[in-house]
Amino acid sequence: MKNIILSLFILSAFLSCKKQLQADLIIINSKTYTVNSSFEIAESFAIKDGKFIAVGSSEELQNIYKAKQVIDAKGNPIYPGFIDGHCHFYGLGLTQQKVDLVGTKSIEDVLQKLVTFQKEKNSSFITGRGWDQNDWEITEFPTKKKLDTLFPKTPVAITRVDGHAMLVNQAAINLASISLESQVDGGEFIKKDGKLTGVLIDNAMNFIKTPLPSKKEQIQALKDAQKICFDLGLTTVDDAGLDKEVIELIDSLQNSGDLKMRIYAMISNNKKNLDYYLNKGIVKTDRLHVRSVKVYADGALGSRGAALKDEYADKKGHFGAFVNSFDHLQKLAQRIAHSDYQMNTHAIGDSANYVMLKTYHEALINKNDRRWRIEHAQLVDLKDFDLFKKVLPSIQPTHATSDMYWAEDRVGEKRIQGAYAYNDLLNQYGKVALGTDFPVEKVNPFYTFYAAAIRKDLKGYPESGFQMNNALSRENTLKGMTIWNAYGNFEENEKGSIEIGKVADFIILDQDIMKIDGSKIPSTKVISTYINGEKVK
Ligand SMILES: [Zn+2]
Repeated sequence: MKNIILSLFILSAFLSCKKQLQADLIIINSKTYTVNSSFEIAESFAIKDGKFIAVGSSEELQNIYKAKQVIDAKGNPIYPGFIDGHCHFYGLGLTQQKVDLVGTKSIEDVLQKLVTFQKEKNSSFITGRGWDQNDWEITEFPTKKKLDTLFPKTPVAITRVDGHAMLVNQAAINLASISLESQVDGGEFIKKDGKLTGVLIDNAMNFIKTPLPSKKEQIQALKDAQKICFDLGLTTVDDAGLDKEVIELIDSLQNSGDLKMRIYAMISNNKKNLDYYLNKGIVKTDRLHVRSVKVYADGALGSRGAALKDEYADKKGHFGAFVNSFDHLQKLAQRIAHSDYQMNTHAIGDSANYVMLKTYHEALINKNDRRWRIEHAQLVDLKDFDLFKKVLPSIQPTHATSDMYWAEDRVGEKRIQGAYAYNDLLNQYGKVALGTDFPVEKVNPFYTFYAAAIRKDLKGYPESGFQMNNALSRENTLKGMTIWNAYGNFEENEKGSIEIGKVADFIILDQDIMKIDGSKIPSTKVISTYINGEKVK
């Protein structure tokens, strides 16, 4: 604060005999968490041409600047716009066109939702997402039996909450030409009593080809996702896996002003994307940044697809699976290392984390500041943590509080100590990038804040928090959702804090998440969201 006051004092002395400077907007009477390097709190700031031009006290700024608009924040707290470091923004939009099965309590509940949806939409191929049998009374995987009775002719494919398992009916199986003899690497067709149950794991899901959305539906999806995100205070999203065609659509909508969200687009790992983007180099506009590749190493813990070093505690002889070969992962890492791109790999099991960390270290010998990331880093062998000294952990705190009920069943009491170990990861690299993985989890960034710092579910369970030695402080949580995410995107010089010269992305909240009682954090409301100095909520 001292520095700000001093420089403003000099500036105002210099200007005392001159006319006031022009700004577009001044915010006064706020409690602004600047998230600058000394984590200072300020009262007021001024904006011109979409950027912060001054930060200081209300009185000083009003003396120096005259603005078209002055907003009295009435003491409300202000933060830099939140960045979601790992999400599926376009996927969230597409989800709005599907049956939402998040929070369903049983297979009957799921069926009811499908029937209601179909009555309204009369879809030729019903898709849905979000069921989680771990939330049901019967926690075994469901089967397609009742789906076949209700939808004998219409294909149905509904994805599990983690995106790593899918329940399909016989009509979808027929369409995909799946049979009892079908084989797949890195996945499974689950069978029971010698019959297909309709549950497909990981790569087996690739057999199901759902119809592609039209251009109009794609645009609607992006706009729907943007509205949800602005309402919750997000001003940048890191989309973890997009194709060239969608990235180009985003770019054109941003250029025409139809899409205002800032997007850090990780390209999906396929030949077309790699050949095009690695050759083209970094793509950077005011709102779009393409310079990273999203890669998958393994599956997820919930569906026992995460690759573990030792067998699952609740399934003898089962180790999960890599979804790409070591050879593919190593060659890909070498190829990306020779470009300007960042490699962001989904690694959940301790084996997947170990293999990727080693692969990164080999590929990055003699290369500095590449900021390669491990996405999720959910289960890390205690002896492998130090490999994160040079690899940025990109983690999703709500995964911890969603999985805490059954994660120990999967891995046992010893390995669980290295699971969702956010503070241990932070201590290695010095930064963590925080995200949600929405629509796998809810979009709400206050749930992320709460899960990271308080480590409880929305009902306050467990009473003393889940593995609290790995909770993040509120200050580190806020940094993880702003400046460290900007760093993870090579954008820390242009966003992630409220400082002179940075883009004017900020949010006004109804309560101070740094100070209020922890149990109140999830109910925080966004009063307004500004992007580039423009009010978008
Ligand atoms: Zn993801």
